[in-house]
Amino acid sequence: MPATIINGKAFAATVRGQVAEHVTQLKADHGITPGLAVVLVGEDPASQVYVRSKGKQTIEVGMKSVEHKLDADTSEDDLLAVIDQLNTDPKIHGILVQLPLPKHLDEDLVINSIAPAKDVDGFHISNVGLLGTGQKSMVPCTPLGCLMMLRDHHGSLSGMDAVVIGRSNIVGKPMAQLLLGDSCTVTIAHSRTKDLPDVVRRADIVVAAVGRPEMVPGDWIKPGATVIDVGINRLDAPEKGEGKTRLVGDVDYDSCAAVAGAITPVPGGVGPMTIACLLANTVTACCRANGLPEPTGLTA
Ligand code: NAP
Repeated sequence: MPATIINGKAFAATVRGQVAEHVTQLKADHGITPGLAVVLVGEDPASQVYVRSKGKQTIEVGMKSVEHKLDADTSEDDLLAVIDQLNTDPKIHGILVQLPLPKHLDEDLVINSIAPAKDVDGFHISNVGLLGTGQKSMVPCTPLGCLMMLRDHHGSLSGMDAVVIGRSNIVGKPMAQLLLGDSCTVTIAHSRTKDLPDVVRRADIVVAAVGRPEMVPGDWIKPGATVIDVGINRLDAPEKGEGKTRLVGDVDYDSCAAVAGAITPVPGGVGPMTIACLLANTVTACCRANGLPEPTGLTA
């Protein structure tokens, strides 16, 4: 039987709809408009595209969007001053500093200067600690999106074997924490893992967050397993015309889809969920800041 395609694009539209409804209610019942500030340092083209997309989607769900675009040579002190001002601005409930930062800026220092309650990327050390100890936190957007899709597909994840390939702070590690929080038996694999194919073959759930195009072939997948492909890799596609490219994930889609029970495509899987979860986190942060009940189903 062909794998069920987990449609992240459609799911993200549903999440954005839920966020928009909640925003409408916050405005009507409490006169509060959730506000998201995005700080971009420098002119990295990919970052500019992400920031534009975040701003557009923030406005579309009825929230306030603020963008701070700073020169590539902005000093650490000047960047910290911007964050400090956003930390104390009552109209701003979420702050995101677009990564990567130019090399002269200390990313850890900058991220840890964001007020944890406004850290909608969930990268602040306090939020990492809260997530790791099973407490209420701001949850990193990409793994949160993966978790939402897994819960939607399976209902309960309890007792399932999950293998996360990749141990980055932004995807692999928080993904593993979230799966553990939902009572999966979790293995984190990485570049030094021995017998990776055998490790992956055990899994009921495979989350690939490696950054290597089409690295996971179908014969690593247990029949019926659910495959969540976080990877976004751009390959040359001369068949589409000169200079053209195509996006692929970290799993070989066709061979994995032939074996898996369910799979996320690239594009249209995890990618769209990331910004949807950023908006969800901003509403959640806004509700917490105002002592209001937070929306259900929009966080871990
Ligand atoms: P990263 O920081 O580069 O981490 C990659 C991880 O993969 C590392 O832990 C690395 O292991 C592991 N790895 C590398 N080669 C491996 C191999 N041959 N076998 C097993 N493990 C291997 O990447 P990331 O930021 O987590 O991102 C991963 C992918 O997700 C990228 O394609 C990225 O573009 C994508 N991404 C997508 C979204 C989205 O919104 N969809 C968001 C974020 C990232 P070591 O630790 O041992 O080096």
